[in-house]
Amino acid sequence: MSNNNKLEDKKKLSLTARIVIGMVAGMLLGGFLNLVFPDNAFVEAYLSQGLFYVVGQIFISSLQMLVVPLVFVSLVLGTCSLSDPSKLGRLGGKAVGLYLITTALAIAFAIFMAVIVKPGSGIQLTSEAVYQPNTAPSLAQVIIDLFPTNPFEAFANGNMLQVIVFSLLFGIAMAFVGKPGLRTKALFEDFNEIILKLVLILMHVAPYGVFALMAKLFAETSFGTIYTLGKYFLVVLITLIIHGLVMYSVLLKSLTGLSPVVFLKKMREVQIFAFSTSSSNATMPVTLETVTKRLGVHNSVGSFTVPLGATINMDGTAIMQGVATVFIAQVFLVDLSLMDYLTVIMTATLASIGTAGVPGVGMIMLAMVLNQVGLPVEGIGLIIGVDRLLDMTRTAVNVTGDAMVSVVVAKSEGEFDEATYLDPNAGLTMRDN
Ligand code: ASP
Repeated sequence: MSNNNKLEDKKKLSLTARIVIGMVAGMLLGGFLNLVFPDNAFVEAYLSQGLFYVVGQIFISSLQMLVVPLVFVSLVLGTCSLSDPSKLGRLGGKAVGLYLITTALAIAFAIFMAVIVKPGSGIQLTSEAVYQPNTAPSLAQVIIDLFPTNPFEAFANGNMLQVIVFSLLFGIAMAFVGKPGLRTKALFEDFNEIILKLVLILMHVAPYGVFALMAKLFAETSFGTIYTLGKYFLVVLITLIIHGLVMYSVLLKSLTGLSPVVFLKKMREVQIFAFSTSSSNATMPVTLETVTKRLGVHNSVGSFTVPLGATINMDGTAIMQGVATVFIAQVFLVDLSLMDYLTVIMTATLASIGTAGVPGVGMIMLAMVLNQVGLPVEGIGLIIGVDRLLDMTRTAVNVTGDAMVSVVVAKSEGEFDEATYLDPNAGLTMRDN
């Protein structure tokens, strides 16, 4: 009896509520430490670089630890369970097409916003940090690199596109090989259950992990730069919010007829994971769980579209790049032509392929974009100071885009369960066990 009561008490607060509390409490504590004990050696050594750092890093590492095994097992299962393996080409085409189109839309919208608001006008031309750009790989190399020469190396390096290609081929072979394929499938189903259990366990400790990540960040960030770059910061933020809430809702409604409110409600946890880890990649286990168990996308589609999206689809990142390019052009008094804007849209859209969803990668891609239109790469030094918070927000948009496209593709392929989508409690009972 008393045990039951305890259990009831525990269940009163939903997991989402607990994660939100962890996030807000972390922000408040970190902000408090930042304000009241600035540059305090104790706070730095024992909290921001101590407890918060250790707990936060363990949380992120544990999420990342699951990514490769999860993608391999669930994608192999998804591929070999496709009712018709010839669907794969069409499914892939739709997913890649939608990912590219939404990214291009996002960046075009961002450029439009930045041209109208002019966040860079009147800003002094000084850059605080020197930025060393990485060189962009050629498109041919990106395509060749999709195919691993050694799958174990791809697994070990976490090269997601190569892991995806190997898993797809493995799954297709399994579907065609008869009995050995069926036996292996049963084994993979068991593995899948086990990995999913691990994901759920991690979600239960997420409030603490998220708390630590936020506390460290808010204890260390100097918010002064945000004030100086306020206009740039706000344009990126507002464009991200409009894209994440309005654009996706319109696309979802018009392409599937499904309610965007249900979608956004169920995506809250995923967005918080993305926001606090700044990594689509580390968030992937939670995105996949939500997309398949709560939004009704069959594993045969979700196991493919979610990891693919986390790797190649970065609408939020594209938005930052669009605003940043216009901002830097305005600061350096460079006039961009319509052709330049089109080049920015093309480059940023293509550059998002093959770039992993990890913190800060958007800046590396921005250097490529700036190079393409002849803008000074040093301009990145101007905005890098406020990038961390924007990175968090754009990652939340990135993962929302991955899930939205997954739903659209699944629905159009008939690999979708509408009852699960509409059920507010779908997938929740699993979490409580
Ligand atoms: N952090 C982003 C992501 O993981 C990428 C970026 O914009 O830097 O999706």
